[in-house]
Amino acid sequence: MKAGLVKGNAEIFVEGAQRRYPGLPLKEEPVEIVDMPIPVVKENRVLIEVEACGVCYTDIDIIEGRVRCKLPVVPGHQIVGRVVEAGKGVEHIIGKRVGVAWIGKTCNSCEFCKRGLENLCVDFKATGCDLDGGYAEYTVAFTEYVYELPKAIEAEKLAPLLCAGSIGYRAFRLAGVFDGARVGLFGFGSSAHIVIQIIRRLYPSAEIHVFSRGAEHRELAKRLGADWTGHPSENPPRKLHIAIDFTPVGETVARALELLEKGGRLVINAIRKQTPVLLDYAKHLWEEKEVKSAANVTREDVKKFIELYTKYGIETHVQTYRLEEVNKALRDLKAAQIRGAPVLKIR
Ligand SMILES: [Zn+2]
Ligand SMILES: [Zn+2]
Repeated sequence: MKAGLVKGNAEIFVEGAQRRYPGLPLKEEPVEIVDMPIPVVKENRVLIEVEACGVCYTDIDIIEGRVRCKLPVVPGHQIVGRVVEAGKGVEHIIGKRVGVAWIGKTCNSCEFCKRGLENLCVDFKATGCDLDGGYAEYTVAFTEYVYELPKAIEAEKLAPLLCAGSIGYRAFRLAGVFDGARVGLFGFGSSAHIVIQIIRRLYPSAEIHVFSRGAEHRELAKRLGADWTGHPSENPPRKLHIAIDFTPVGETVARALELLEKGGRLVINAIRKQTPVLLDYAKHLWEEKEVKSAANVTREDVKKFIELYTKYGIETHVQTYRLEEVNKALRDLKAAQIRGAPVLKIR
């Protein structure tokens, strides 16, 4: 089978690094298209013929060495495909269309798993990082960690549900949006453009503010229901109760906290920040402002979000690429030259 493989990045990995990387690896076509054997299906696993796989900013973090993974690795954790083979006892799933998300496997027995926080599992195995992912014609996944998906919708439109949508949903849930809340979304990529629709549907009276550098992104935000849009340097008419930061840079944390009302909450939806987060207690945290990060997803987040998607007909905006164009997809994503989410259409 054909697969996109990342062979190495260790030389630029710096533990806890807070400096900006030059991004050279992306210019050097870091994902190599190789011929690999179709993976063997073991117990509790399914073999999936991949139809589409989303490309996520986390994949860039993996490639550039900010997120440590096994190497070589087949990235991709927003997988949509058809089950073609299943381990013993789960054959009923053969033929179904399923999705695979970042949460590839958890231990089910550590203190976090027991508290319903399997996203923080001490033995969390991430798809496309600890386990090979979906930049390939076939992939294997643990049966307990796949989700049935509707068959009537194009695979590429479903791919963003598995990460952008699910992690966005988790960030939304942690943010504690309420009726009439003034909400600020910072950055308007694939996750934010889904979150805005969730808020619009579940809290019609919320006032949604979108901060983005791109005029095209602000336009899309307006169309999807934003009440106010602006450049991150612009001030909204009134302070915000809730902010969700989707950007890869540290400066947004301070900016969002500065715009929060007393008692407001900021949720950060990013695995790594490329630049330092510098805070001033009086300006950014005083008067009961809260900051929380959203890390990974639980299976519950993915299932709940797929339910919402089906119920409300949430739109996903995608730009498709062939597997061979994966490096271009990554570069376009990094350069923020995409409306919505990049997705590899594998078949
Ligand atoms: Zn992702
Ligand atoms: Zn665990």
